Amino acid sequence: MNPNPFARARFVLGAHELAQLPPDEGREIAIAGRSNVGKSSVINSITGNARLARTSKTPGRTQQLNCYAIDSENRLIDLPGYGYARVPEKVRRHWGTVLQAYFNERCSLYGLFLVMDVRHPLKPYDLQMLDWCRSAGLPVHVILNKADKLSRGAAARVLQSVRNELADDNPGVQLFSATDKSGLEEARERLAAWLLPGKA
Ligand code: GDP
Repeated sequence: MNPNPFARARFVLGAHELAQLPPDEGREIAIAGRSNVGKSSVINSITGNARLARTSKTPGRTQQLNCYAIDSENRLIDLPGYGYARVPEKVRRHWGTVLQAYFNERCSLYGLFLVMDVRHPLKPYDLQMLDWCRSAGLPVHVILNKADKLSRGAAARVLQSVRNELADDNPGVQLFSATDKSGLEEARERLAAWLLPGKA
């Protein structure tokens, strides 16, 4: 495997409002996913740091935008992964407003990694994220995580059906497993092409 360009990622801050984010310079990639799809595990796999996104699971940090610096100019932004249907309406509205503004206004935001559980793809949360990215003209890369939970054939069928379903948006869609690390190289290559063009 190539050297990991994300190995130096470190937690910088958690933001409740866009104004608390670092200056809108350089480039950032957002990572979204419903709670429990394995978003933290995907972030940890990509960075090769098993403890990085656990930081975000400390009480109070799950409902914020967690910022991880990759280098002095480039960042990952871990978006709140609230179980979309379960949170109180007020919380959902707050994050709806914040995230929509984030997608629309953040100049350094280059694209979204959207993590789903391969067994439960395209839930309302995912469709909402895709819709906001479409409105903001942002490219999306879909990570179908927990591929180890399905047979190869079943996982390949989900991959194809998600690709078909999203054909108009033309996102990247790939299988991934944070457990057995399948798909890791493909995810790192996509992230490096977006975040560190010409560097990695
Ligand atoms: P998050 O809430 O989306 O950040 O999810 P976590 O990263 O905390 O993972 C939720 C649960 O799914 C944990 O028990 C993980 O061990 C498990 N998990 C995450 N990724 C995978 C995977 O690729 N395969 C399997 N089998 N389990 C996974």
